[in-house]
Amino acid sequence: MSDPRPPSTTPSSSAAAQTPLTTTVLDPRGDLFIHVSGTDSSGSNEPARFKVCSRTVARASKVFDTMLFGSFVEAKKLQDTSEWAVYLPDDAASAMKPVFEIMHSNFSGLVPIEAKDTERAPIRHMYDLVVAADKYKCVALLRPFADGWVQLLLDVKVNEERDLLRMAWIYYQLGYKHGYTRTITQLVVGFPPWIDDTITPQDLAPSALPPGLSETLIHYRSHMIRDLIDPVERVVLRFLSTTPGLKGHCMSSLSEPKDRQDCEHRILGKLICDLNKHNMWPIPELEKLPCSPEALARITTPVFSGREGANTSCNNQSHMDHSACALRRRLTSGWSRKLKLSQSRPPTYTDNYEYKIHPDEDGHISRQSVLTGLNLVTFPAANRKRKSAIVFLS
Ligand SMILES: [Zn+2]
Repeated sequence: MSDPRPPSTTPSSSAAAQTPLTTTVLDPRGDLFIHVSGTDSSGSNEPARFKVCSRTVARASKVFDTMLFGSFVEAKKLQDTSEWAVYLPDDAASAMKPVFEIMHSNFSGLVPIEAKDTERAPIRHMYDLVVAADKYKCVALLRPFADGWVQLLLDVKVNEERDLLRMAWIYYQLGYKHGYTRTITQLVVGFPPWIDDTITPQDLAPSALPPGLSETLIHYRSHMIRDLIDPVERVVLRFLSTTPGLKGHCMSSLSEPKDRQDCEHRILGKLICDLNKHNMWPIPELEKLPCSPEALARITTPVFSGREGANTSCNNQSHMDHSACALRRRLTSGWSRKLKLSQSRPPTYTDNYEYKIHPDEDGHISRQSVLTGLNLVTFPAANRKRKSAIVFLS
């Protein structure tokens, strides 16, 4: 994460145009007003003002300490006899309110959230809160809540890519490796590598992600899709080549050549029908294939396995056995062998694929787990499973 902007002692033009704000008082004897006007993950950009104790927020966050008591800001303060105010135009009120509440040990805003009731909003709220805590270097303040949040998230079913990305960030910053790898696994296999243009503008992209994660997802998904579609393209090209003769898919070696040729033609016809059924004929370019690795595997695996009858209904006038004639017999063994020889390739899609965490991610998550105390907790454990967790709601 990049460091936050230096605080300003003057309002931004947009903030100045606002009508007077209702002030949330975190400390009646507070000496500092913090104005925020950023946008949260749900699109809300309601500005807000908080009356806080400057020493309390500085104690809780080295970033605030530098902001508030660094030489630059202090000099400004001494010259100004009016109220001490800083403006944070990038920070959302819904995220900063719970951060300030935790800093001031004000827990009256705590609301228990049932796992079954947890929809997207609590995930986004948690995400915004964790982003703010990371930005101001005070993730350790979340220690009393991290255990409950993680256990709650484990029960939440999320199918949208951007919310999964947010969930990955929460696990990443709270220090829960199992949840992180599980979420990234789902992100790798479950979504196309290309940006979905149909996402509405209101569905904001996550503002913070683990370093390099977006690139890794695109890289892995692209390679998985290429690995899945390449054998299909190769077999089609081989079928359609002008080179005469059998292509090696009819296994009935005792049949007449014409019978075997007919068998291969039927295999080709079945293959084209199968591809066309899934809008994949002609085979689209990789960039125009809006398909996740998982979905593509569901299409290509039956094509090669013959489970859908690539040639099981072979018209066998010569009474020869063509039951073994299928695409898979010839192609997958050689392809798999080639993949095994290449150690540097990105992962190949399999039904039981699991994301292998990078050492940098592992190191960060381990350090965070010490901050949040999750290194002392064993997950998942049935007797520790919780049906609700305490989540800050604004
Ligand atoms: Zn055959």
